[in-house]
Amino acid sequence: MAAIRTKPDHHTYTFPGFGSEKFPNLMLRGAGDLNNWHLKVYEQQHEGYMAMKAALKMEPVAVTEEVKTSGLRGRGGAGFPAGLKWSFMPKDTADRKFTRYLVCNGDEGEPGTFKDRVILEYNPHQLIEGMIIGGWAMQCAMGYVYIRGEFLWLIEKLEAALQEAREAGYLGKNILGTGWDYDILVYRGAGAYICGEETALLNSLEGRRGEPRVKPPFPAAKGAFGQPTTVNNVETLAAVPPILRMGGAEYAKIGSPKNTGTRIFGVSGHVKRPGIYELPMGTPMNFLVEELCGGSSTGRKIKAIIPGGASCPMLDEKDFDVPMDFDNLRARGSMGGSGGLIVMDEDTCIVQATLRLIRFYAHESCGQCTPCREGCNWLEMILHRIEHGQGRMEDLDLIASLTPRIGMRTLCPLGDAACGPVDSALQKFRHEFEHHITHKTCYATGSRLLSKVGAH
Ligand code: SF4
Repeated sequence: MAAIRTKPDHHTYTFPGFGSEKFPNLMLRGAGDLNNWHLKVYEQQHEGYMAMKAALKMEPVAVTEEVKTSGLRGRGGAGFPAGLKWSFMPKDTADRKFTRYLVCNGDEGEPGTFKDRVILEYNPHQLIEGMIIGGWAMQCAMGYVYIRGEFLWLIEKLEAALQEAREAGYLGKNILGTGWDYDILVYRGAGAYICGEETALLNSLEGRRGEPRVKPPFPAAKGAFGQPTTVNNVETLAAVPPILRMGGAEYAKIGSPKNTGTRIFGVSGHVKRPGIYELPMGTPMNFLVEELCGGSSTGRKIKAIIPGGASCPMLDEKDFDVPMDFDNLRARGSMGGSGGLIVMDEDTCIVQATLRLIRFYAHESCGQCTPCREGCNWLEMILHRIEHGQGRMEDLDLIASLTPRIGMRTLCPLGDAACGPVDSALQKFRHEFEHHITHKTCYATGSRLLSKVGAH
């Protein structure tokens, strides 16, 4: 077998809050140790595959009930209850047998989000164990890990971990004498952000163009290859073994009643200790940023935080005390999203940051829906001219009139995602846009705006 690359050359992770008594890790146990991915380490040091062995002795429906009891909500962005999603899968009847699939969404491609890759790097067996438990609960015939194609070093490691699991009899025919056949295959994506949307992912998995499907039918009725399918995020599935180990009711005591368990937060931007932090849901954002991450790395005040990956509306300092869970962040006008915090100090130009974000979404739009395809491009063009000293005051009203014509009028959430950062930037930092237009200088840095020949 080829040597396994342990780390990409271009990236390192830090685990500043790793494994403390106060914040015990459930999903990142052993993270930071490059040997942690091996089966023997997972079994000997982290109670590996004990939950799977217990689950295989339970009725499949009882496993789903345990996950429901835990209150686990999907960690991919939407926060939908995982156990409920599993229960949507049809059961076999006397006259109909289904071929069911479990698909793990490992297509982590949103700016500011870098947590699934850490599970894949340090704890692939916990994901595999979660997929076996989920596969048993839904009586799936096959599991797929759809993984971002650029994660080459992780794919090699995941493949090697899967082979270890097969050799141990945890995957393949008649798993541990249950009579159940199940295996997990890895499928490499080709680098489209939209393939993180579950139906686009399924199209891509089938070898089609990665475009979102019209829903209904939902994947539980007609998913991969036309068969009932559940798509779960990497972190969601990695949370399943601890739930089975400690029991759903015990897991539900962590976090808050409707936002249970721990969550992996990835913090980037202007903080002293950026990195990965596994914390109970509902941890106040300023505690994470100020206490654990050490506050501003530049000595300047923190001006804005995007709390859950690039698609989430920005928050300003009046909301920095928000408890980080799905419901509280929504109540403050943002979202929990993927748990990736992007921290910006007061020298950050909000106009430029917003332009960068909308450029990403305009580039990644699959083009099926006119509001998303055309609207994102128009937003990019207008922001581009403001950023380059050619903006007009009426552009701000134009932006405000455009975003409601994109959001909620599209096939998939990308249209909404593109508008969130733009709307919130304009609401909370309108003075920066106005300054750009009237003074032709950057509000944050004072530098003169460069007018580009041929700018939009
Ligand atoms: Fe494609 Fe955008 Fe429509 Fe989603 S919202 S289906 S990305 S055009």
